[in-house]
Amino acid sequence: MRAEPATATAVHDPDATPPALLEVEGLTKYFDAGGGLFGRGARQVRAVDGVSFSLRRGATLGLVGESGSGKSTTARLVLRLLEPSSGRVSFDGVDVTTCTRREMARLRRRMQVVFQDPYGSLDPRMNALAAIGEPLVVHRMARGRDLRVRVAELLERVGLRPADMWKYPHQFSGGQAQRVSIARALATDPELIICDEAVSALDASIQAQILNLLRRLQSELGLSYLFIAHDLNVVRYMSDELCVMYMGRIVERGDADRVLRDPVHPYTRMLVAAIPSLERPGGGRCGRPVLRGEVSSPLDPPSGCRFHPRCPDAVERCRHEDPAPRPVAVGRIAACHLHPAGPDEPHPDEPQTDEPHTDEEVAS
Ligand code: SF4
Repeated sequence: MRAEPATATAVHDPDATPPALLEVEGLTKYFDAGGGLFGRGARQVRAVDGVSFSLRRGATLGLVGESGSGKSTTARLVLRLLEPSSGRVSFDGVDVTTCTRREMARLRRRMQVVFQDPYGSLDPRMNALAAIGEPLVVHRMARGRDLRVRVAELLERVGLRPADMWKYPHQFSGGQAQRVSIARALATDPELIICDEAVSALDASIQAQILNLLRRLQSELGLSYLFIAHDLNVVRYMSDELCVMYMGRIVERGDADRVLRDPVHPYTRMLVAAIPSLERPGGGRCGRPVLRGEVSSPLDPPSGCRFHPRCPDAVERCRHEDPAPRPVAVGRIAACHLHPAGPDEPHPDEPQTDEPHTDEEVAS
């Protein structure tokens, strides 16, 4: 049975577009990187820097980018496992960033996470009954015989046998252990599951099985997924919408198929071209991986566009001006001086308030 919607949800208008389940606005997380005397002049790492997106009920939003792009930090901020430096996360109309501990405990039932390494996230001393049953006990949703019946149901739902409840993590294969993690995430009937590189550690054939399981569960239970991965093929298979992140920022956002078939941002194009198996428009296939250069140090980010040291299209302006995200088509946003208009020509769709800003303005 689903948890009751939060009382803070806006009044329902039957003609209105359904509100997003999850809305993230201007989310930032700066970590203190030390240095300076008595805190003065201390350096900060902008792990997440002004990230905004929304996720519809029953849909999947993919977050992609190389290691260090801020994907997992964003997930932890959404779950409030980390406190943001600024910005807002709203879940079903409730502001996650300001709600009380009690409200947060209620929300946690409805927002769950599946991590990359099931052996790392499952306690080796707990069998599957204890691992899957723990959230049910914590949230006082079942105990005793009811607990075992519920755990047996959950095991069957993820393709395991009820008798597997007596096994410990080391007695499961990697794919089976990830199914136990998924069953644990499902235990409290969540509406949102954050999959943080949930299939990255698995062999390709097992990956496919787990992805199909996640899709089946989504259609059966109406789940929403925030799906974090670095493998674009995996993300394309799962996602309705896509956010491409680079050094803590979203550089491109839009419908997943359209973003991957016709990437606008040079970084997205680079990621797409680096996947040998991804089909290009026209039916051809990409060639060898072409990810050039390294991600810059977050302690010393480049001036202007953070991608400019690696960008094949960079122009002089890119070294000084940080491109603001702006609409490039309906439902499509990119942060690049070259799109959709030339570097000196503002596009008519460009919001008046979204002027590109200099590094000095960002720092102030
Ligand atoms: Fe490349 Fe310039 Fe666009 Fe940045 S703003 S992605 S450096 S062209």
